[in-house]
Amino acid sequence: MKACTIVPGNISTAGVEEIAEPALTDGDVLVEGLFVGVCGTDIEISKEGYGVPPAGHQRLVLFHESLGRVLEAPEGSGLAAGDLVAGVVRRPDPEPCGPCGQDQWDFCRNGKFTERGIKEQDGYGSERWRVAPKFAIPLDASLGDLGVLLEPTSVVAKAWDQTDAIARRAYWDPQHVLVTGAGPIGLLAALIGRQKGLEVAVLDRVTEGAKPEMVRELGATYINSLDDLPAPPDVVIEATGIGALVFDAIGRCAPNAIVSLTGISSGTRPIGVHADAINKEMVLENEVVFGSVNAGLRNYHQAAEALAKADSSWLQRIITRRVPMDQWADALERQPDDIKVVVDLQA
Ligand code: BGC
Repeated sequence: MKACTIVPGNISTAGVEEIAEPALTDGDVLVEGLFVGVCGTDIEISKEGYGVPPAGHQRLVLFHESLGRVLEAPEGSGLAAGDLVAGVVRRPDPEPCGPCGQDQWDFCRNGKFTERGIKEQDGYGSERWRVAPKFAIPLDASLGDLGVLLEPTSVVAKAWDQTDAIARRAYWDPQHVLVTGAGPIGLLAALIGRQKGLEVAVLDRVTEGAKPEMVRELGATYINSLDDLPAPPDVVIEATGIGALVFDAIGRCAPNAIVSLTGISSGTRPIGVHADAINKEMVLENEVVFGSVNAGLRNYHQAAEALAKADSSWLQRIITRRVPMDQWADALERQPDDIKVVVDLQA
């Protein structure tokens, strides 16, 4: 079968290769790959050498954001041929550490977890793939191609889920949310914020194109500067990874605010921060700033629900470019109007 492969860090090796059919040891559910989504991590793997191929291999089958159709599933798995599914990215470490032993692989403590398409496991960029039933998340059939948004939505669902868990520490009646960044993660975070009935402001630097319109269609406010915030945020979902912006946003929060950091950047320019002032504000205002990576099973299911109840014509606009499998490397080159680029594994 055909697969999208690359030697991490060597973009000239990006290509389509014939590889063996998926191994039975990957799981009992056989899936026909439909789409994979491209994110910053795939670009980092391809250009900067993040990621590790499976033991004994130089090349990695890329992509962790998946959508496929079940070809075969064992009886009693709750899945049947024809179902739309997306695959879970992370697998618990084989040791296992405490959280992985509880299936909380997104909180792995010893770093020995593996990730499909990123770390020591081939990804979902192939004509067929296998997973164990629990790692195949069923999607509402009406979602169609939009199911490829499940994995990025799961990352956002985790950030919201953790925010809600932290919020249970005291009386909590949030109203104002700030989302920084209007890429796929930011837009999906804003979507969930609106689904929760909150007032959402989304900050991004672009002034034209689909992003401002999409934010307004959600009933949220689009801003280009934190000076234009309608109110001090109770919740911040940070999706840019830009250090200066992170600290600026922390400084503008309402008392008891919860700030979720979901983005990373490869920036190396040091910035000056007024550490004492930040410390003082966080102490005197009970602020919580936390990092959030990957997603647990419950977050995938929360994400599937959030997508199923979203307006599908709005979700469609997140997918701005579809690239056929044979030209998948083109998907790594960012174009000005890109939001989410997907690779069509059947084209
Ligand atoms: C993925 C996560 C993964 C992280 C680190 C992100 O792009 O969405 O599932 O844990 O990269 O490898």
